[in-house]
Amino acid sequence: MGARTALRTCPLCEALCGLVLTLDGAGAVTDVRGDEDDPFSKGFICPKGAMLGRLDGDPDRLTGALVRDGEGGHAPTSWESAFTVVRREIGDLIARYGTDAVAIYVGDPTSHSIAGPLYTGAIVKALGTRNVYSASTADQMPKHVSSGHMFGDPLAIPVPDLDRTDHLLVLGADPLKSNGSLCSAPDFRGRLKAIQARGGKVTVIDPRRTRTAALADEHMFIRPGTDAFLLMALVHTLFAEELIVPAEHLAGRVNGLDDLRALAVDFPPERVAIITGVPAADARRTARELAAAGRAAVYGRAGTCTQAFGTLSSWLVDALNVLTGNLDRPGGAMFPRPAHVPVYRRKRPFTTGRWRSRVRGLPEVNGELPVATLATEIETPGEGRIRALITIGGNPVLSAPNGARLERALAGLDFMVSVDPYLNETTRHAHVVLPPPRPAQTPHYDIALTRFAVRDYARFSPPAVPPDGRPSEADLLIRLAMIASGSDGDPAALDEVIIRSALARAAALDGSPVHGRAPDELRTMLDTGTLAEQRLDLMLRLGPYGDGFGADPSGLTLTRLRTEHPHGLDLGALKPRLDEVLCTTSGRIELCPSTFAADVGRLHAALADPAAGMVLIGRRQLRSNYNRLHSALRDSVPELVQGSTVCTLQLNPADAARIGVAAGDTVRVVSRTGAIEAVAEPTDTVMPGVASADAVTGDREIDPLSGNAVFNGVPVTLEPGRPGTGV
Ligand code: SF4
Repeated sequence: MGARTALRTCPLCEALCGLVLTLDGAGAVTDVRGDEDDPFSKGFICPKGAMLGRLDGDPDRLTGALVRDGEGGHAPTSWESAFTVVRREIGDLIARYGTDAVAIYVGDPTSHSIAGPLYTGAIVKALGTRNVYSASTADQMPKHVSSGHMFGDPLAIPVPDLDRTDHLLVLGADPLKSNGSLCSAPDFRGRLKAIQARGGKVTVIDPRRTRTAALADEHMFIRPGTDAFLLMALVHTLFAEELIVPAEHLAGRVNGLDDLRALAVDFPPERVAIITGVPAADARRTARELAAAGRAAVYGRAGTCTQAFGTLSSWLVDALNVLTGNLDRPGGAMFPRPAHVPVYRRKRPFTTGRWRSRVRGLPEVNGELPVATLATEIETPGEGRIRALITIGGNPVLSAPNGARLERALAGLDFMVSVDPYLNETTRHAHVVLPPPRPAQTPHYDIALTRFAVRDYARFSPPAVPPDGRPSEADLLIRLAMIASGSDGDPAALDEVIIRSALARAAALDGSPVHGRAPDELRTMLDTGTLAEQRLDLMLRLGPYGDGFGADPSGLTLTRLRTEHPHGLDLGALKPRLDEVLCTTSGRIELCPSTFAADVGRLHAALADPAAGMVLIGRRQLRSNYNRLHSALRDSVPELVQGSTVCTLQLNPADAARIGVAAGDTVRVVSRTGAIEAVAEPTDTVMPGVASADAVTGDREIDPLSGNAVFNGVPVTLEPGRPGTGV
């Protein structure tokens, strides 16, 4: 076979760019370019996406199962032998110590496939363990908690309507570097420039002058970890100056306005300026601009989540969107309507703390415990101790707080199995490694990230290269689910059970497009692809754009998406849909949930005793597929791992002069839980009083409402070390 092309969604970040791969006769990817016919990304591709072929053909990628060889290394084994070991060890540990003895960690890359979102839930359910961990508590759980309490659904996260807004206020995000997070938008830079081109304004509030801040119309420094204070000051100003925008579409839909007004009284801009470093006049002007802009959106991301007040910050971001009348309206902050998520389902109102972690007593949030406590749960003896771990994607030794401690803890596990294409800092501790196939061999539909896209959009990419006999990612995960359930049966039977029960539920529900129909008949109508593809077809057909199994003959099916829209299908700009989204007990937006109001006491305490001294912000890309791949790719595809391998400490020149270090000198960075040595890199892109480095973060400090790790605003002291030669 000669050269050919294949279409594919880029799996390397959250932007969902459509790509055209060129493959040679042997199935190797020889070229990658943006798909100009993709209605969402319109040909956009970034340098990372252009490296997908190198990643796909990376010789370090594992091609078969590995098992520990008894000498600290790994040896190839057959897939069946690998599964036999997993079945024996997991089964034995559950039998001896109970279900909580087996923990699971789900990493970010799991979001970038069909199989990850479809099957990890089945594994968790089959295990029945309370020890569920993910990358979410390293950088985004506050957003889920905020949405859970305000809107009733932790996945109902509003995204800025980038293409129609005239005013964008960004906090703690650098989308020009990350390409967007919890806001899928190919060519984020182009979309920001378009706001400016139509006369709008982009304001960035960040302790660093990031690439996004440099592009913005205005950048304000803020002391790390203090976004909640500034946001409260903006809320205060809106109330005090009677700038609340009465939005007709929100009339009668909002509870707690007076409660929030009462809370905000204590946070005038003049009072919080001492802790945020943002002059009061700037804060007041920012609030006035937000209120005056016709169509405005506030967008807060990782920097606002990875701090001690992460949930309060996330809440106040959306409180501002409500108060300025911008929630759920074009040009504001809107709820995407993903094609695969039925809108008729009854959702249970959000709650947390259904169980607690064994040692520290931290509450469950969104079905998970904080990753910051994973090492403690492994190390601490006693009943309920974690003795085995299943990891699916991700590299928590790099991305979790106090990774060094976690790595030591992993080394002490009785058993660990990892689904991962690489041996990395985490998976090298696994007793069994099960690598999924290359990206080019993997089908793609973005189940997770289309929930956060700035346009409603669907795209299915079949495998560009046929399977080569090894298990697909779906095969690996469903085998693990079967093992977790203690079953020896045919893995396909589990898919069948899931499909039939989903059809039966849909047929029984009022409002479903298949209400009253026979599940057996519906079963015969599904796509003829793999079982995972049949499950996707089911979701699409019951979704808001679906054909309802024939109820709307022009509606969406997987077959139609695959054959008629191979470049993807644009389902239009975001639409107001509050009625579909809201599932609070009251049926209204809860603008001032009691849980959040109670936590405001911590803001008062911090204001009464503002911390002085240097604080640290992490510089690593937490929400990145590269964490999983970082070390493996450092040698083989270095372009994907940007930046120096030297640990540098960025600090303001005034701070460098004060402690007596120059560029290239060694600085010792000491936090409450550890110390690192780094090479000084004075730069005025960092706010005075702030140091930026790969973090020396501990695992004790968390945002108490979400369990999210604290990476920003960590107090540190800097000590001059050896003189250097410059960087
Ligand atoms: S922006 Fe993200 S999705 Fe788009 S090409 Fe780059 S890495 Fe891939």
